[in-house]
Amino acid sequence: MTGLSSGFRAEPEWAREQDENDPLRAFRGEFLIPPHADGEQTYLVGNSLGLQPRGVRQALLDELDDWARLGVEGHLHARHPWLPYHKEVRDGLAEVVGAEPTEVVAMNSLTVNLHLLLVSFYRPTPQRHAILIEPNAFPSDRDLAASQIRFHGHDPAEALIELDADEPGGTVSMAAIERALGERGEHIALVLLPAVQYLTGQAFEIAGITRLAHAHGCMVGFDCAHAAGNIDLALHDSDCDFAAWCSYKYLNAGPGAVAGAFVHARHAREKLPRFEGWWGRNEATRFEMRPAFDPASGAEGWQLSNPPIFALAPLRVSLDLFQRAGMPRLREKSKRLTAYLAWLIETQLSDVLEILTPREPGRRGAQLSVRVRAGRDAGKSLFEYLVSQGVMGDWREPDVMRIAPTPLYNTYADCLRYAGAVRAWRTRG
Ligand SMILES: *Cc1c(COP(=O)(O)O)cnc(C)c1O
Repeated sequence: MTGLSSGFRAEPEWAREQDENDPLRAFRGEFLIPPHADGEQTYLVGNSLGLQPRGVRQALLDELDDWARLGVEGHLHARHPWLPYHKEVRDGLAEVVGAEPTEVVAMNSLTVNLHLLLVSFYRPTPQRHAILIEPNAFPSDRDLAASQIRFHGHDPAEALIELDADEPGGTVSMAAIERALGERGEHIALVLLPAVQYLTGQAFEIAGITRLAHAHGCMVGFDCAHAAGNIDLALHDSDCDFAAWCSYKYLNAGPGAVAGAFVHARHAREKLPRFEGWWGRNEATRFEMRPAFDPASGAEGWQLSNPPIFALAPLRVSLDLFQRAGMPRLREKSKRLTAYLAWLIETQLSDVLEILTPREPGRRGAQLSVRVRAGRDAGKSLFEYLVSQGVMGDWREPDVMRIAPTPLYNTYADCLRYAGAVRAWRTRG
């Protein structure tokens, strides 16, 4: 047990006291918690779809009103002018991912952004054309890497390299990454890894991996889908070349929300080859409608189209909450909250569940992935029982349940309710 868990108790009064003394407790009231029976769901699935901030509804209504009132003039005169709207979320995004404002941009969706970034950062040669990914990558990440390899005329069977899952829970050690780069580094064009792996919940060492990859002459990018708004990212200082993330998981910006992208400042002035569109042009000359593409410097130069205002408004509201709470405070609460859930599972439920996620708080975010020891059928039955009780996690075949107490709106009482519901299922037999 780590020092974090000293003093933990599996009692409702103890949990209530922790929640009352939580400096971030007011933020729960900023969210709409889905109802269940006479109360609220125990919503532990913010890693999949974050909850709706209360302010989102009004923000959307304001945009509809401005469109009705102003028509085309809304581009300049809406309360939040549409023309530079992506800038309204820039500083908030930069803070959340640890970047300089010019290094980030909100645009498109996650898979689209990764494809666009690979156009610039995956430049295979006959000698060096492999992409190194993690084992059990999210299907979209595997698909985009494999299809980029094929698009450049190579064969994923040879050029898509998977790391070894060399640790017991299916996680990957730094040694495995060193080994892969040592053996195949000179053939690897791009290292593309998650900042937090979706299935195991493992947080990867971004700065350390970047150093290694660069030493082997590889470009390196991170998929931060499960990391943005979850762990304390320092993308700029880590020196990685690029990153992208979606905004509907921990960032609470709603289903299909506009995603984010990061391009390190080091690449700002290089005019890297890219797929171009008018919104990526230098703003000063964009509306002169010149024939030649003159890219905006920084991540904004990867934009293609003018942004979807109705999909950005929720992100603006959500990022405001993150700025008020501050990532360091959120992370501090998150470490202790997740340690509490892990402690409950290890001390009360170890005959039912096995934690796959690394136990060191620095190697995970909010999420714990647990394997149901009795296998798939029992696991499905447990999962369905929990849902019937309003205890929401998610299920990944064949036998993994993911549970994520998120520090903005989850409580110690939520963790205790989860443990109580698993115990009730076990007692039912
Ligand atoms: C959630 C997630 C996606 C989803 O991609 P979209 O383009 O937003 O549909 C992709 N990759 C990872 C690792 C994810 O966690």
